[in-house]
Amino acid sequence: MLFDSHAHIDSKKFDKDRDEVIKRAKANGVHFIMNPGVDLESSKQAIELAEKHEGIYAAVGYHPHEAKHMDDSMLELLKSMASHEKVRAIGEIGLDYHYEHSPRKVQKEWFIKQIRLAKSLDLPVIIHDRDANADTLTILKKENAFESGVLMHCYSGSKEMAEQYIELGAYISLAGPVTFKNAKTPKAVAEYVPLDRILIETDAPYLTPEPNRGKRNESAYVEYICNQIAQLKEISFEKVAEATTANAKKLFKIDEE
Ligand SMILES: [Zn+2]
Ligand SMILES: [Zn+2]
Repeated sequence: MLFDSHAHIDSKKFDKDRDEVIKRAKANGVHFIMNPGVDLESSKQAIELAEKHEGIYAAVGYHPHEAKHMDDSMLELLKSMASHEKVRAIGEIGLDYHYEHSPRKVQKEWFIKQIRLAKSLDLPVIIHDRDANADTLTILKKENAFESGVLMHCYSGSKEMAEQYIELGAYISLAGPVTFKNAKTPKAVAEYVPLDRILIETDAPYLTPEPNRGKRNESAYVEYICNQIAQLKEISFEKVAEATTANAKKLFKIDEE
């Protein structure tokens, strides 16, 4: 049994065959999928998908790319949406200095406000951090985000920083890049992260793992990430599948079998 801890099933790229994609995931042993929001609309769609499908859960939040479109009324809307029984996290939220689609100051402001929202609701946060490692860690620490749970999605930082996150109680999720031939750092991180703190994800439709690189990504492919981690840790596929599923269920407080 596998848990894809981050997939944008609501993406337009799945408009033509969304039900097939979900069916293929289930047929491949992916019993659980966490679908995070990136803005108000996608957060709503994530909830609709979660209502419609067993095993799909939702997170609501504003991606750093969209931070410039946020205001206090939207934060209130997120708050009311978060009371839905299948919403199990606030996300994805964070900082992205690579694309910088929103000014850094604005990204930080809404990142902090959404962490505070998550803490007030006792929900974990799903963190997107691209080329903003230092500021992301500083803010998470300052806001004590670790109290209600932190998931570093598609972790792309160093092994040294991963050690800090583990010490602080965070979970680390690995995606397609761990399967790429020349990806030394994600492989070193996969070897290091203790089995009780590691999650796997596709980030579909993006970041397609080997051997399907170049194609659209989907949740069924999370098995390749599981397999790569098993090889790096020199343990069985089943052991990684079992641990990553148990970790995600614990973090998102899911009882469903
Ligand atoms: Zn992301
Ligand atoms: Zn994402």
